[in-house]
Amino acid sequence: MSVLPEQIEDLITSLKILPGVGQKTAERLAFYLLRIDDKKREDLAKNILSVKDGLKVCERCFAFTDRDICELCSDYKRDDDILCVVEDFLDLVSMEKGGFFRGRYHVLGGVLSPLDGVRPSDLRIVELIKRVQDEGISELVIALNPTMEGESTSVYISERLEESGVKITRLARGIPVGGDLEYADMNTLKKAFEGRVGV
Ligand SMILES: [Zn+2]
Repeated sequence: MSVLPEQIEDLITSLKILPGVGQKTAERLAFYLLRIDDKKREDLAKNILSVKDGLKVCERCFAFTDRDICELCSDYKRDDDILCVVEDFLDLVSMEKGGFFRGRYHVLGGVLSPLDGVRPSDLRIVELIKRVQDEGISELVIALNPTMEGESTSVYISERLEESGVKITRLARGIPVGGDLEYADMNTLKKAFEGRVGV
């Protein structure tokens, strides 16, 4: 039998849905939340509840935005010739922080993973191919994470675009295998981008 009051147990259970948060961490966080002042706890709860309010997905690149077409896609100063495909929005944010890429993005929404039941139709691959064809892209940079799934997704995309004539490049090695763009430091990411290689 647990000695914890039910509402604390419930909070711990909720916190455990977060990635990387196990029982111990969830307990620590729950007790921390008990100690902070009410206002801070209310703000946290409010922000969790409202995080999706008015949030949309850009019709062109599928990044999170609060408009129909996101800020990046609307920025006329960016280079229309070069399109960078990333796994998720967080990877886009990492690339943007570096400030070395001035082209457009396409957020794939994941990577192919037969084991988890992620098929091409679950990702924005059809949309990507259409964009490459319609937008006159001259270079497609595949910036997927160097995991097995990322690799096979890159191969799949390259094959699908083989006949389009678009130049396809991939980030150079440098991001640790199995690593995540999201955690790569800016210099590593910049070097991997600058040293990108043809497929
Ligand atoms: Zn966009």
